[in-house]
Amino acid sequence: MAVPKRRTSKSRKRKRRTHWKLNAPNLIECPQCTELKLSHHVCKECGYYKGRAVK
Ligand SMILES: [Zn+2]
Repeated sequence: MAVPKRRTSKSRKRKRRTHWKLNAPNLIECPQCTELKLSHHVCKECGYYKGRAVK
């Protein structure tokens, strides 16, 4: 297994972690009940996805 030759410096580590958790959860309005929901997910208020009831 490859082993790092140099210890990762504090600044390098911090720079790498600036990209971590940068994207916010993409909330969209449910077309069925106008509640905020995660896109590409079943709405947890009305259980609708792509215009039909899932649950
Ligand atoms: Zn809904």
